Amino acid sequence: MVQNNQQTDSVIAKIDHIKQANYATIYKVIEKHAPISRVEIAKVSKLAPASVTKITRQLLENGIITETARQASTGGRCAISLAPNSSSINVLAIKIGRKLLSISRYNLSGEELSNKQINIELENGEQLIERLTAEIAVAVEEGKPLGEKISAISITLAGLINPKLGRIVYTSRYSFNNFPLVEILEQRFNIPTFIGNHTRCLALAEHYFGASKDCLDSILISIHHGVGSGIIIQGKWLLGENCNIGEIGHIQANPAGKQCHCGNFGCLETEVSDNVIVEKVKNAINYGGLTTITQETLTIENIYQAAANNDPLCQKIVEDAATYLGKTVAILINLLNPEKIIIAGKITESGNTLFSTIQQCIAHQTLPEFQNKLTILPTELKPNSTIAAFALIKQAIYEGDLLQKIRI
Ligand SMILES: [Zn+2]
Repeated sequence: MVQNNQQTDSVIAKIDHIKQANYATIYKVIEKHAPISRVEIAKVSKLAPASVTKITRQLLENGIITETARQASTGGRCAISLAPNSSSINVLAIKIGRKLLSISRYNLSGEELSNKQINIELENGEQLIERLTAEIAVAVEEGKPLGEKISAISITLAGLINPKLGRIVYTSRYSFNNFPLVEILEQRFNIPTFIGNHTRCLALAEHYFGASKDCLDSILISIHHGVGSGIIIQGKWLLGENCNIGEIGHIQANPAGKQCHCGNFGCLETEVSDNVIVEKVKNAINYGGLTTITQETLTIENIYQAAANNDPLCQKIVEDAATYLGKTVAILINLLNPEKIIIAGKITESGNTLFSTIQQCIAHQTLPEFQNKLTILPTELKPNSTIAAFALIKQAIYEGDLLQKIRI
């Protein structure tokens, strides 16, 4: 009996999965080819016309797609075309940064309709959640008099995140331990909610809207307070069962290096992050190093600008960091054979030193065949933007799980 129940559950799960995949396929065809008739959708998607009729009816009823102008067809009858109703569906995309909470309202076309930034520098974890909940409540209520509804919420932050379970596993900034943020927000607002690691979501955003939209395999490497990566393989997020593939900041770069917050020694992010670079320039100035930077002008922005302007000390420190980074990039290339490596962070403003040093590492440390079609370039999107959180919503649409939950 138990076995029969298990078999029934498994069959239901498979049917749900197929239904979700069919919704996603039809939506993607409509988005790509709009305006498009149901007959054309069936041809392009290779799904049965009856399925197309049923699913498009549901998507129309839920307000996700809309009927547009009639197209004249060769048989004399007119076919009604369908298009996504993207400009009418609003979502909230949120980035929890170290200092700022950034909340944007987007429509599903990817237009950022508004952005609000709140200083959270001094807040602890509990205060952060209170503030986040209060700000979401304001944003949800704001549009109601105009008949606007928030159809989904997405949040990104640094740290180990489990998007499948909607939990913050660990962050170095706050003392969360497997914190069920999605469950708390969904109970409070009754709106589908998503959460992801900011860097991995930024990789997704570059794949959908930015520098890697023309290729299927790419790796985004982010350098800021720490170092992380997001990996896209065959157009899909490489996440893994434990959901945190890409923690390259903790690959050992210098065995004689400093202790990292993870407990180990000489991790990449103890040699490459923005803070470490400021510290290295500060120490060099104290030891009488020649540079245009002074203790008064010692900021990461000024250091990278000075490196771009050929300041020898700043250039040398960026070059050392780029050598450590380049070795790790070479490992990733040998392991995953990507078409593009995208670098995110203020360090990309440091001139040619960064990219030429990484290129040298790639030339000497990776398989020559893997170098042929490989490009390394800076991000197209703003790395700190809420577009990363928006990409997570777009992914939920493209995979079908959100399509069946939106009602406008
Ligand atoms: Zn570490």
